[in-house]
Amino acid sequence: MHSFTKIIATLGPGTEAPDMIEKLILSGVDVFRINFSHGDQATHHRTFQNIRRLAQKLDRHIGIVADLQGPKLRVGMFIAPALLKKGQAFRLDMDAQPGDERRAQLMHPEIYRALKKNMTLLLNDGRIQLRVVSFGKDYANTRVVVGGALSNHKGINLPHVVLPISALTEKDRKDLAFALKLGVDWICLSFVQQPADIIAARALIGDKAGIIAKIEKPSALAHLKEIVELSDAVMVARGDLGVECPIESVPLLQRRIIGVCRAHGRPVIVATQMLESMISAPIPTRAEVSDVANAVYEGADAVMLSAETAIGQYPVETARMMKKIIHHAETDVYFKQAMDIAVLPPDNTIASAMTSSMRQMLKVLGRTACIVSYSVSGQTTLRTARERPLVPIVMLTTTPKIADRLTLAWGVRPVVISKKLNNIADVTPLAVSYAKENKLGRAGDEIIMTAGIPLATHGNTNILHVVKIK
Ligand code: PEP
Repeated sequence: MHSFTKIIATLGPGTEAPDMIEKLILSGVDVFRINFSHGDQATHHRTFQNIRRLAQKLDRHIGIVADLQGPKLRVGMFIAPALLKKGQAFRLDMDAQPGDERRAQLMHPEIYRALKKNMTLLLNDGRIQLRVVSFGKDYANTRVVVGGALSNHKGINLPHVVLPISALTEKDRKDLAFALKLGVDWICLSFVQQPADIIAARALIGDKAGIIAKIEKPSALAHLKEIVELSDAVMVARGDLGVECPIESVPLLQRRIIGVCRAHGRPVIVATQMLESMISAPIPTRAEVSDVANAVYEGADAVMLSAETAIGQYPVETARMMKKIIHHAETDVYFKQAMDIAVLPPDNTIASAMTSSMRQMLKVLGRTACIVSYSVSGQTTLRTARERPLVPIVMLTTTPKIADRLTLAWGVRPVVISKKLNNIADVTPLAVSYAKENKLGRAGDEIIMTAGIPLATHGNTNILHVVKIK
């Protein structure tokens, strides 16, 4: 079943075994996410090898994302869970004593350095709100604005503050080196605050993997366009986004981020709580089904499962359900209208002129089986996918690494060919036989080919070629 919108599934204790990975691939998963916030390198190594082995066995390209933990700002231990009441005083400090109802340990000097009077601090996923009354270099006296229960190692967020810390901790740097050595396709960066975070990561990653920037902070939203331009893909990380920004703004931020990514031709992932109730139930809520379908209608490249597949009781059912929702939404006439409405104005480049003409050709021809793009770097294919052309985009490439990476992109079916092609006439027989073998089209249908002449030059889409299947 061809779908345009891709599925990313997070692996965890419930699904790391090879039989589960296989079942998830067969249920429609295109990309696996290995979450470096949990587990150890030995397990991740095994999981990585199992994914690659099973993808080969099933003759599929499957992407692998290493999601780095990033800095986690947390309070320390408590004598017993503490209940904070609205209006009371509460202190944060660097005292090694366990916390109680009046104070908690917070061993992050960089937080105290960034404080300002009346600033809001959020604890325990935003459930508790504190207002800073006074502070010094190793303490903060606060007033509780919204109370709640606080216990060991709960997180702290400082919305609207750019903290002087790198998006990569010591652990992240080790995990990054390890993941690159394994050969993952994507590195996902948490705690992105500013464009400089992507530049710093790029200096370490180069082109060994694509960079996914998680958008979860107001400071990242303030530099969204630059961050999108510097990254290879973006994740709407709704978990942290809903803590750092008012929760009611998450749907509009999701639309805004998708819009900017689509305009720049960067794959965009909608993540977190998509089918959350399926962690413990065999069917999702109606609201969750609508949420997945809405991400599809908004033109997201991929939708992601987190705990649902990492630790949930129904991982395979969840992936199948996601596939069904995507399929149903994509076969609806509204999806076609939504993709048309969202068509992006061409920018002032040859590649853009080519791909927007391709869209026009699709309309005029009416019986296009697929688009075939010959791409070395993946750029031509991504530029094609940016147009959301509503037919499969077959990417022919000689580079397996690029094939695995582009599994994330909307509508793309990567195919690795064994030898470099020299001219567009060499692409035609491959395109026609792929379309026939995979039942994408019949005699009389057209195939539109996009490529850059001379073939094998990076990011140089400058030719459209149409053939009829005989
Ligand atoms: C998120 O915040 O939505 C997210 C995907 O990040 P994490 O890995 O912290 O869940």
